[in-house]
Formats: sequence, structure tokens, C-alpha cells
Amino acid sequence: PPDVEQLGRSSWTLLHSIAASYPVSPTPTEQSQVRQFMGLFSKLYPCWVCAEDFQEFMTQNRIRTESRDEFGQWMCEAHNDVNRKLGKKVFDCSKWEERWRTGWKS
Ligand code: FAD
Repeated sequence: PPDVEQLGRSSWTLLHSIAASYPVSPTPTEQSQVRQFMGLFSKLYPCWVCAEDFQEFMTQNRIRTESRDEFGQWMCEAHNDVNRKLGKKVFDCSKWEERWRTGWKS
């Protein structure tokens, strides 16, 4: 249904934007908060199949919160996992910051 797509686009915008504004050198508290957020997000995501698969991804791929780049890369890999499942193009994760933080280099 189209609202799963709308929900997805909006949610990825939020998630990659959170990664983009995450500290370059996060404190232990900041790391713990982002882990708690992602854990709860994956449980509350209002598309049940999506949430189930995302929780499975999080079990197999431990969240990386040591730096902005680690977290941004991890989020990009999580998104690529869904892209693959849906037969969409895999995104080049070396470009996540250009897409979500600094803007495309023209
Ligand atoms: P989106 O996939 O929404 O991407 C939006 C934009 O993000 C793209 O235009 C591109 O510029 C950028 N982008 C793409 N890939 C990456 C990446 N790897 N890293 C950084 N930026 C990127 N839909 C289902 O049908 N089944 C599911 O099981 C499912 N699970 C989901 C789980 C989660 C946690 C989320 C947030 C969404 C899920 N979705 C699922 C929705 C799906 O991922 C898409 O959001 C939706 O299909 C709309 O796709 P889109 O082509 O508009 O672009």
C-alpha cells in the first residue's frame, strides 16, 4: 500500500537526518541514547513486517554508534538491506553524508 512507501520515505529522512546531526565524537550518554532510540524505533515502527525484518537486521548487524561516520554508515547499510529486499538500487554508502548532511557536490 502507498502509505508504507510514504511512511518509509519520511522515516528514512528522519533516520538519516538523525545520523547527520549525530556528534562526530559522541559521549557514552549520547551513544546510549541513540541505541535506545533505535531499539524502540524498531519495535514501534508502524509497518509490522518492516519492523520485524528491521529488528532481525539489528540482531545480525550490531548498531555502530562510536562516531557520526560509523552511525551514518550503519544506517546506510540498514537502508540498503531494505533496498535489496525490495529490488531497489543499492546506495553507495561513501556518499551518505553528501546526500544527507553536506549536500551533493555538483
Ligand atoms: P527510499 O528507500 O524511501 O529512500 C529515500 C531516499 O533515500 C532515496 O531517494 C535516496 O536518495 C536515499 N537513499 C536510498 N538508499 C539509501 C541508503 N542506503 N543510504 C542513504 N540514503 C539512501 N517497505 C516495504 O515495502 N517493505 C519493508 O519491509 C520495508 N521495511 C522498511 C524498514 C524501515 C526501517 C524503513 C524506514 C522503511 C521500510 N520500508 C519497507 C520502506 C522502503 O524502505 C522505502 O522507504 C519505500 O519503498 C519508498 O522507497 P523510495 O524508492 O521512495 O526511496
